[in-house]
Amino acid sequence: MIPYGRQNISQEDIQSVVAVLESDFLTQGPQVPAFEKSMADYCQAQFALAVNSATSALHIACLALGVGKGDRAWTTPNTFVASANCALYCGADVDFVDIDPVTFNLCPLALEKKLLQAARDNCLPKVIIPVHFSGLPCDMQAIKQLADQYQIKIIEDASHAVGGKYLGNPVGHCEFSDITVFSFHPVKIVTTAEGGMALTNQPELAEKMALYRSHGVTRDPDLMQGESDGPWYYQQVDLGLNYRMTELQAALGLSQVTRLDQFVSKRHQIADRYDQLLSSLDVVSPTRTEQSYSGLHLYVIQVPAEKRLSLFKYLRAEGVGVNVHYIPVHTQPYYKEMGFKSGDFPVSETYYSQAISLPMFPDLSQQDQDFVVQKLAEGLCR
Ligand SMILES: *Cc1c(COP(=O)(O)O)cnc(C)c1O
Repeated sequence: MIPYGRQNISQEDIQSVVAVLESDFLTQGPQVPAFEKSMADYCQAQFALAVNSATSALHIACLALGVGKGDRAWTTPNTFVASANCALYCGADVDFVDIDPVTFNLCPLALEKKLLQAARDNCLPKVIIPVHFSGLPCDMQAIKQLADQYQIKIIEDASHAVGGKYLGNPVGHCEFSDITVFSFHPVKIVTTAEGGMALTNQPELAEKMALYRSHGVTRDPDLMQGESDGPWYYQQVDLGLNYRMTELQAALGLSQVTRLDQFVSKRHQIADRYDQLLSSLDVVSPTRTEQSYSGLHLYVIQVPAEKRLSLFKYLRAEGVGVNVHYIPVHTQPYYKEMGFKSGDFPVSETYYSQAISLPMFPDLSQQDQDFVVQKLAEGLCR
């Protein structure tokens, strides 16, 4: 089966993980800060905090922004459930903003409309969590302008977009957000097996996220109440979690990041080739925009809705590991229990009914890509 996504692991990656196994620190050593520095430098952001998943990064981002009971967080229905769940962990309520029918990202016009109504009803969100779906950056300028107008915080879920650019700056630069989150799951662009990162330019947010990542415990006398008892002393000043990344993971990440640009440019070559090969078929290829450079985590095509199920089954049966991203979050049973229902966000639902993600990863060979396209063409005329 040709998978829809796959990691690329080099001998250098393996050596760097083995070296950590032979070193003094398996956790809480020098690799995590080195990985954080490399990502902060890459993204031109001031602070980067590595954690054990993007889900954890989203959670501590919400906590650091003070999201809690009685607050609301808005995100897109076209995402992985983690983008919404993070606010529920904090006791907040979640709502959604429908997507743009061309980019499949959170739609600024729908956002504007919903904010106007929410302002009238006195139920504005505390935070908006736009997701750079498939790696294509959202219209962050428009989203930021609206967020500023209503004094709302922004967490960018950039799980798909590490290595991408928006208006010439790297995604993660946080020019248009308070915090940006990356995922390093193996299907994503660079991997640490499991892992994630939160980037910010605001020292107080970085400080809070560092606390929440590790039990709410500090060894910094400046953050303590009263005097330190001595060199062994630590204080718990808040309730945190253990979301730390291991040294093994950070060493892998550090090694992977040296190939990040290469990975993304390979993804673009593959996407360009798909665009050409698919141009004669009855499918819609994904959009890329002028103002951004996509991370291209996914290559999602739109097919006629009535053919999607049979096409999916045919491709899987023929060894093409297609997938579907995403089942609109508000249609999940857990969210329906909260009162959401099918029909609430029609653009996301229509998009979902037509979506298929084709294999997209740097090591996809031309031969395998040709095979994918051939099976797709066959499946479409069955
Ligand atoms: C993968 C993903 C996550 C969760 O990432 P983990 O590192 O697996 O926790 C969150 N949001 C989006 C959009 C994702 O694709």
